Amino acid sequence: TERLVVVRQLHADYDTPRGPVPALRGVDLQIQRGEITAVVGESGSGKSTLAHALIGLLPANGRIVSGAISFGDLDLHGLSERRFRALRGTRIGLVPQDPTVSLNPVRTIGDQVAEAVTAHRRLPRASARARAAELLEQAGIDRPPLRLRQYPHELSGGMRQRVLIAIALAGDPDLIIADEPTSALDATVQKRILDHLEELTRAQGISVLLVTHDLGVAAERADRIVVMNQGRVVETGTPAEVLENPTDAYTRRLVAAAPGLTWNEDYREPVSPESPVLLRATDLTRTFRMPGTTGKNTELTAVDRVSFEIRRGETLALVGESGSGKSTTAKLVL
Ligand code: ATP
Ligand code: MG
Repeated sequence: TERLVVVRQLHADYDTPRGPVPALRGVDLQIQRGEITAVVGESGSGKSTLAHALIGLLPANGRIVSGAISFGDLDLHGLSERRFRALRGTRIGLVPQDPTVSLNPVRTIGDQVAEAVTAHRRLPRASARARAAELLEQAGIDRPPLRLRQYPHELSGGMRQRVLIAIALAGDPDLIIADEPTSALDATVQKRILDHLEELTRAQGISVLLVTHDLGVAAERADRIVVMNQGRVVETGTPAEVLENPTDAYTRRLVAAAPGLTWNEDYREPVSPESPVLLRATDLTRTFRMPGTTGKNTELTAVDRVSFEIRRGETLALVGESGSGKSTTAKLVL
């Protein structure tokens, strides 16, 4: 895979009446093309600061003190505001956290999505509307022509979040930064939207930086997890590496607080060298239990009593929709 974003030793501060407060203290990070990278860490660890620094949208009192950010062959830190604006909405799309404040209440959905379409590309009005309808459809919104005429308050929270995804996709970005994109929504809607975002970005080869404080969400969605603690990256790895073999003390505590992090031990039956069956998995089960956002544990069964055989010389295809447990199954077998 190819690296899309490289962050090196990034330091960022916020100015406060009590003096500068460090929020990022030397962050190193890479985002590969076409992959989902999840940034996890507890509240205040610097996740949003990192996301905002990447997209050039730190609050007025925030600033990058030192370090480097490259995007493709561009050096982002040091880019003028005008050139940064040109990147946002084209090569980098943002899915903000709160759809209620991110959409303009007095303008139709159609106007807002079409505006994102024409922001960086000249198109006649009718073509922009047609493209807007297409984007809404891609984002999983039913009856796009009707939605184009509606106002944000006429849509459910989940639908508004999908509109924001449509807007983020409008410029055909290489990277989407999603800062807790669904934390305001209930669990089932959240899952459907993350499924959809994952499917879309995988299909189009878009990289995603997914900011979440939910280790379960990160483990289920991401190719790589980056764990932050007090402004530093304390661990990077695949979900299996981070969850099953955390090397950093902070991550170990995070994972230790998730007691259901186990799989059944005897899921693989031993097979004899002469047997035509190379591998037999019986009742393969994988459950993650994570400390949830509201203090109570959330449990996630990624693989639920799956049995299959792989015969010598044969190819076994695992087919299923996004989030159905294909990757977790493959990792368990490995
Ligand atoms: P959360 O999970 O609560 O969203 P986070 O990991 O996104 O947390 P940040 O918002 O990046 O954390 O905050 C990192 C640090 O910077 C914290 O100590 C926070 O208090 C501080 N901070 C964030 N925004 C500002 C601001 N506008 N002014 C001053 N300090 C800030
Ligand atoms: Mg945040």
